[in-house]
Amino acid sequence: MPKSDNINRIIDHKLFSEDDIHNMCVRLGKQLTQDYAGKKPLVVGALKGAIFFLTDLTRQMDVDEEMDFLDVSSYGNSMKSSGTVKLISDMATDVKGRDVLIVEDVVDTGLTLKFMKDLIGGRGAKSVKCCALLNKEVNRTVDVDVDYYGSKVGNEFVVGYGLDFMNYFRNIPYVGVLKPEIIKEFNNK
Ligand code: 5GP
Ligand code: MG
Ligand code: MG
Repeated sequence: MPKSDNINRIIDHKLFSEDDIHNMCVRLGKQLTQDYAGKKPLVVGALKGAIFFLTDLTRQMDVDEEMDFLDVSSYGNSMKSSGTVKLISDMATDVKGRDVLIVEDVVDTGLTLKFMKDLIGGRGAKSVKCCALLNKEVNRTVDVDVDYYGSKVGNEFVVGYGLDFMNYFRNIPYVGVLKPEIIKEFNNK
């Protein structure tokens, strides 16, 4: 875990504490346990942002779940969606006939989620749903359902708990907003 004086240098303000996040995982885990009772869902984590959320969420899900990962990118190193989604690394599991639950860090424009839902649906999954930690609904440009989410979030760039800025800061244990000077510092490197 990074030292707190280092985190204070990076984060302007905290949006969701470790307790807030834990409570979201417990609530969502209960709901998913009910909704997937008697099923054997395939949980698909969207790399790399969703890994922290996926490990905490699945440990709150009392169902026989299988896990796989997909790496899809629309941001590159930028803070804005490029508008085109690329499949960086595919999963190994055959999704045909499976109940698939995509786990995402944040759904912003919705392009990435739509791409993943279409890809998995197109391969013959029985059902494709998404559980996202955060739902940036105000920025949505495509019509896609975020079936489950921890919290809505406004139009601000957040980091921590898996969410990165230029691939940094994923290991900050909570979700917060970056200081503007950190954005400048890294952009000038
Ligand atoms: P979308 O395709 O919905 O526009 O973007 C989805 C992806 O963009 C997310 O999975 C996430 O990786 C990245 N993203 C969107 N908003 C944020 C944000 O506020 N902070 C970070 N770190 N990544 C974001
Ligand atoms: Mg993501
Ligand atoms: Mg990212």
